[in-house]
Amino acid sequence: MKWIEEELHEIEKTSLKRRLRETVPIVDKPGFIARGGRTLLNLSSNDYLGLAQHPGIVEAMRDSLLIEGAGAGASRLVTGNRKPYALLEEAIAEWQRSGKALVFANGYMANIGVISAIVNRYDAVFSDQLNHASIVDGIILSRAEHARYRHNDMEHLRYLLNKHRNKRRKLIVTDSVFSMDGDQAPLHELAKLKQEYNAILMVDEAHSGGIYGLYGEGLSHVLGLKHMVDIHVGTFSKAFGMYGAYVCASDTLVNLLVNKARSFIYSTALPPAVVTGIRKALDYVVRESWRRERLFELSSSFRSSLCEAGFKVGDGDSPIIPLILGENDTALRFSHALEEEGIAAVAIRPPTVPKGTARIRFSLSAALTPIEVRDAVLKISKVGHQLGVLK
Ligand code: PMP
Repeated sequence: MKWIEEELHEIEKTSLKRRLRETVPIVDKPGFIARGGRTLLNLSSNDYLGLAQHPGIVEAMRDSLLIEGAGAGASRLVTGNRKPYALLEEAIAEWQRSGKALVFANGYMANIGVISAIVNRYDAVFSDQLNHASIVDGIILSRAEHARYRHNDMEHLRYLLNKHRNKRRKLIVTDSVFSMDGDQAPLHELAKLKQEYNAILMVDEAHSGGIYGLYGEGLSHVLGLKHMVDIHVGTFSKAFGMYGAYVCASDTLVNLLVNKARSFIYSTALPPAVVTGIRKALDYVVRESWRRERLFELSSSFRSSLCEAGFKVGDGDSPIIPLILGENDTALRFSHALEEEGIAAVAIRPPTVPKGTARIRFSLSAALTPIEVRDAVLKISKVGHQLGVLK
């Protein structure tokens, strides 16, 4: 078993070793976490709307626990299909103005389940190079041809669609907002190519569901492209502050998923109280648009202040703001120095991002205040100068 030590050593040598950090006690201050006895401003959370500690959601979950008990006891196709599921799926389908919604245990399982249910070795999947790992894993699991196109490069996608034009089914899949870069997919162009090549279009709105749109329906809705997207995936683990995921599609496609998506069929249903909590979170997502407004104001001022300070940050208007530093070691040192300054901002390294693009992925939350964000920019600039990233 010496190979285990050797492999770990190899990982360590390239500053890629990961470790579980100390557990994070909850602090009574939204937007902050506790670490090493200190309270840190949390710029690494996906709790975009600040709902993860919402008392209304907690109360709904507690009430549901008392009625439904702790666990579902079985998968949904056996005896785990409890009432909160039907209520949530109806509410999600109505919110999304979709034929039907199906809830999965999480976004990872939704993506691997959907892709492996609808394509196989006779088919091809056209996937953006920066798509989330769960999409990549779903494609591998499906055994379809994996045609990866360069990030947002529609010419390359067209080339690959031509190359594989004789495949039985063609699935184009993309994140709507990219998880590590915060930029958007060119959904209009993707919709045109889907039509031209008679392909299926699947969009993962993990980082845009709850955030874009008058009611948080997502980016494809805002762009007027909802009807062009055949499979719409979103997760409850980010803007909703909860856990779980949804897939919206036609009645017939959802019916197929119930029959073929193995991560849905062979896994226990979520605890009913979690499902109830998600439905309560949906109420806040839909009704409290001030959370979205505040999030965009904070993101825009944070992004422009970092640019003014001389940093290069990614494109887009999303709450995901990457500070690309290149070397793994620089990203780690940057993150440690920020922690000294009272900011939790995690270094993201390969394989999560391409080699040579290690970064600090800042993500903002409506739980923060403008003063906290302004203060964070000053501290980030100080670290930038200390480490020679800013000249
Ligand atoms: N898709 C994307 C684009 C994501 O960023 C993530 C989570 N990082 C997932 C899917 C997986 O979602 P979950 O955390 O609910 O498993």
